[in-house]
Amino acid sequence: FIITSLCSIQFNVLAQTKTTISPVDVKVNALLQKMTLEEKVGQMAQITLDVITKGKDRFTSDEPVVLDPKMLDLAFGKYKVGSVLNTANNRARTTEVWYNIISEIQKKGSGRLNIPIIYGIDAIHGVTYTAGATFFPQQIGQAATRNIALIKEGAKITAYETRASGIPWNFAPVLDLGPDPRFPRIWETYGEDPFLTSEIGKAVIKGYEGDDNNISSPFNVASCLKHFLGYQVAFSGKDRTPAIISDQALREYHLPAFKAAIAAGAHTIMINSGLINGVPVHANPKLLTNLLRNELGFKGLVVTDWGDIENLYNRDRVASSNKEAVMLAINAGIDMSMIAYQFEPFCDDLVALVKEGKVKQSHIDEAVTRILKLKFKLGLFETPVTNFKDYPKFGSKEFELAAYQTAAESITLLKNSNQVLPLKKDIKVLVTGPNANSMRTLNGGWSYSWQGEKVDEFAAKYNTIAKAIQNKIGVNKAQFIAGISYKMDGKYFEEYADNMDEAIAAAKDVDVVVLCLGENTYTETPGNLSDLYVSEMQTEYAKKLAATGKPIVLVLNEGRPRLISKFEPQMKAVLQSYLPGNFGGDALADIIFGDVNPSGKLPYNYPKFPNSLANYNHKPSESRSVVEGVYNYDADYNPQYEFGFGLSYTTFSYSNLNVSASKIKASDVLTVTVDVKNTGEREGKEAVELYLADLYASLSPDVKRLKGFQKINLKPGESKTVTFKLSKNHFSFINNESKEVVEAGDFEIYISNLKTGFTVQ
Ligand code: BGC
Repeated sequence: FIITSLCSIQFNVLAQTKTTISPVDVKVNALLQKMTLEEKVGQMAQITLDVITKGKDRFTSDEPVVLDPKMLDLAFGKYKVGSVLNTANNRARTTEVWYNIISEIQKKGSGRLNIPIIYGIDAIHGVTYTAGATFFPQQIGQAATRNIALIKEGAKITAYETRASGIPWNFAPVLDLGPDPRFPRIWETYGEDPFLTSEIGKAVIKGYEGDDNNISSPFNVASCLKHFLGYQVAFSGKDRTPAIISDQALREYHLPAFKAAIAAGAHTIMINSGLINGVPVHANPKLLTNLLRNELGFKGLVVTDWGDIENLYNRDRVASSNKEAVMLAINAGIDMSMIAYQFEPFCDDLVALVKEGKVKQSHIDEAVTRILKLKFKLGLFETPVTNFKDYPKFGSKEFELAAYQTAAESITLLKNSNQVLPLKKDIKVLVTGPNANSMRTLNGGWSYSWQGEKVDEFAAKYNTIAKAIQNKIGVNKAQFIAGISYKMDGKYFEEYADNMDEAIAAAKDVDVVVLCLGENTYTETPGNLSDLYVSEMQTEYAKKLAATGKPIVLVLNEGRPRLISKFEPQMKAVLQSYLPGNFGGDALADIIFGDVNPSGKLPYNYPKFPNSLANYNHKPSESRSVVEGVYNYDADYNPQYEFGFGLSYTTFSYSNLNVSASKIKASDVLTVTVDVKNTGEREGKEAVELYLADLYASLSPDVKRLKGFQKINLKPGESKTVTFKLSKNHFSFINNESKEVVEAGDFEIYISNLKTGFTVQ
């Protein structure tokens, strides 16, 4: 074999910087001259709507939202707060109610200098808090479509509907990697792969902000990349707990998606609430200033996550007072504090810190400049609130179709023994399981409320899986009995047996059982888990149903891969639906009965055992027998289903995998082509994926890495040639000195079952 040569090419990673003055700069500068220190500090504060709403509970009820005049005076009159965000206790409201709330906030909040308030929300898969909004599959399902155009279209629709709700700033996309299925926020990510996340992220930024990042368009919103950097890989697998990540790994796996999205023009970024190597990210100038500002050249706004400045004192104890916490965070590079509740001490402390010389006035001016710039760019000075009446397409059929299409392309067929699927429409089925008749579980969190508890009320007009199957083949042929139900009192993971015996008896009288298992909704910390297997009750239920001898089609409706290895061998078919949104029931019924051909591919490895959580792009020592005869062992890389896996009702054959050159220089562009043919009897979509392996490198190379994907549609018998271009950023890796390098040596390319190679000289 060819040993990697020591010569390597290093990239200059410093961002290009140039100074230009725009009309917005002139306006911002003029305004800044007129502002007092207190007014500037107020701009850096963001409070939740609860704070200025009369009676916190009121906002969860159906009563009209009433803003509290005393709190409005305090927050905007005295403290000049410049930003408001959605609330923990929110509940969906109509676009008209949002218009009224935000109009009133703008009236009370703009102050003597007429500076508009910027309102931000988490519109993660649609406008979370707006009744009638179009809900797409959660990000994890979107990634399974491998269809960039479709995902971008969804972001565009969400931007439109966010603006229709009077809101110009969206705390999305989530560009964290999701490599650890134990973590409760996997469903908010695009999965475990840096390349997939980067490619989708770039497109979604343009979906939210427009192709030219023109956020003054009333149809675009400012996006917010989150959570910079290295969230979701906590050692404990639990939310907001410490992570240990080397600089090399941060740059290799976690950084690329943020880097790509910043290059795509994203306007704002939110910070990781956790600790890396003992340092809270909110107090880490190396990440927030050296890396983000100086190296990546990010010019936009940096906002904290929820209450994370207070956390430096209360939780992490790197500051011995709230005031010190404010100093650390602002000096590390924070522009705006999502304070949630405690705005008075934040503002008082920051003013005092500037007066004491502990935070530089110039630092405040820079932060406020970024905030005001964003407000100008968003057009808020001219139009502080966009009017719902100008958005006739809100919740339209056209938008709903896009959400349906995304759901249909996300659903991933993982097993289909003896082609049990698609089912015929003239058979009898039992639809059962805790996820069979729930709009709540189809949507997941960030749906009509933070934790998703209100979904069944707000999404009543859409079809659950059971309802959609009944619509398709008739109520008399599709019986629904839950068998197990989730408790609805806020204890998310508690379940109870709900006519289980009756369901098992009914199973004996049908041809096929559609068993819908998974998780109830949760968002963030409430989703922490101590056991990755699906619940014991669900496991037992699956086994009992299997014991009837009836074929079982298992539908997994879950925010992360919950382990099914204890009963998977007894399942005839397995469909991963993720959290497919309001049209997930329809899409599943269409796939189960063959009206739609499935085409989703897993965005993560689906693990088999809780102690085998390797990602697909692991190191050779995690899966290969190495050094035969000396130390010959079988590592236990044994996913239940691998990243990129997904079946179809048709078959595709791959041939003629060609590379344009067998020997190249690192600076060359390599063209790779492959022919794909639909060899089955029905039309189908296929995500063609290219994986690259650097065979030998100075740092143990990953066994393979996704470096290209394209979704194509093929009629029966039809062939297409798919072309990929590979260049140095595909061949490169981050070396032990944290430098991006291409090392000379042999590479392999894998597409489906084909393999070819080339050498970088
Ligand atoms: C979450 C963020 C979110 C913020 C505002 C935090 O708890 O971590 O992702 O954007 O709340 O709702």
